[in-house]
Amino acid sequence: MAPVAITPVSPPSPTLDDTSKLTKAGAETILSKTVSNDSPAIADLDASKLTFTPNLNPKSVPAPNSLEVWSQNYTTDHMLTARWTAQSGWDAPEIRPYGPLSIMPTASVLHYATECFEGLKAYRGVDGKVRLFRPDRNARRFLQSATRISLPGFPPEEFLKLLKKFVGTEAPKWISEPGQFIYIRPTMIATAPALGVQKPREALLYIMMVMFPPLDEPSPTAPPSLPAAPANRTSSTTTGQDAKRPAAGMRLLASRHDMIRAWPGGFGNAKVGANYGPSLVAQGEARARGYDQILWLFGDECFVTEAGGSNFFVLWKTPDGRTELVTAPLGDGVILEGVTRASVLDLVRSTRPDVDVVERKFTMHELVQAANEGRLIEAFGAGTAFFIAPCSDIHFRGVDVVLPLGKGVPADFGMWVKQTLKDIMYGRVQHEWGVVVEEEKH
Ligand SMILES: *Cc1c(COP(=O)(O)O)cnc(C)c1O
Repeated sequence: MAPVAITPVSPPSPTLDDTSKLTKAGAETILSKTVSNDSPAIADLDASKLTFTPNLNPKSVPAPNSLEVWSQNYTTDHMLTARWTAQSGWDAPEIRPYGPLSIMPTASVLHYATECFEGLKAYRGVDGKVRLFRPDRNARRFLQSATRISLPGFPPEEFLKLLKKFVGTEAPKWISEPGQFIYIRPTMIATAPALGVQKPREALLYIMMVMFPPLDEPSPTAPPSLPAAPANRTSSTTTGQDAKRPAAGMRLLASRHDMIRAWPGGFGNAKVGANYGPSLVAQGEARARGYDQILWLFGDECFVTEAGGSNFFVLWKTPDGRTELVTAPLGDGVILEGVTRASVLDLVRSTRPDVDVVERKFTMHELVQAANEGRLIEAFGAGTAFFIAPCSDIHFRGVDVVLPLGKGVPADFGMWVKQTLKDIMYGRVQHEWGVVVEEEKH
């Protein structure tokens, strides 16, 4: 699984060679190489040192589906922060009132994009308990992303403890009702105030929580002035809501040949801000033309990679008649290893002997051919923000590929995947992927 050979400008970080997979062993390898414990003065990230300063000026919780929620900038009362310096390691983490950070104009992150992040959600289950979905995977990926851009390492299990403490602090107020969820954004930035192009010597880890609209289930009352969500408006298999509404799905615009998101040996497999800024021109064009997301292609072959900030799956019949679920493979640095992606793969492999699951490179031409031959069944994006978003059509350089969903055929497979994962998230089904968080009373 070593990165494909493209000669990097500087030698690749040795810490990533053996860790391109999100394995526990991989994370431990990174750790052993990045966290220096030889000096007792260098402190590890330590959740037992967490302190709490309450916000004495708390906000009100906005109404579900209000403008505040759709603005995606309504944070909770607190944030969690932990400062790191090369001299002394990690300071005691703090939960404190949410507010501005103070960094110097020379801070590394403002010039050299030394920033990485995570995205996950906390769900209030039907049983009243709060759950995270496979958060150990976010913790390990956060460490891998940080390592890729020279930010400090940390024990992922300590990060996970902090994450749970923070969620446990905010959940009672901010997701009080069964069925509610909130978005969590862990972030790390290099704050070292020096313009020299070098490994940062100061960093800040912080976590905030943001009210989020249900992007995978847009309500008819969603403020129309806001950009449309990649919507799946087909009926949900269990609730039956919206059953009378016409089927509609995520509309994708295939990327132009002169714009690529990620390349072999690059950093598309790390969740770093540097992957996003340069993609916004294409994303803006997609929105202006009535599409929801860019479908990122790669190379002259037009390999299909990812849909916006989501992994991308296609369900089709192979020419010899098998039903196959295909998604682009990991290993060369082009694809971000989504927690949702891994879960879709695990779920279908373990419960659907009728479907072959394949991680391989596939091209837009294969997709067009499958559509022309009537073999294309479904396609969907998979990621935390938009969850499972079935796709209705793809515009590919003058060709419109219309999926059955775009012609009114419900995306039953995608809806089954979505409902099955949702049942775990909201505690309808007890599963090890749904990790219960203990709530704190302050
Ligand atoms: C975060 C992200 C995903 C989805 O990952 P999840 O862990 O499933 O939320 C997919 N692609 C990109 C580029 C991402 O940044």
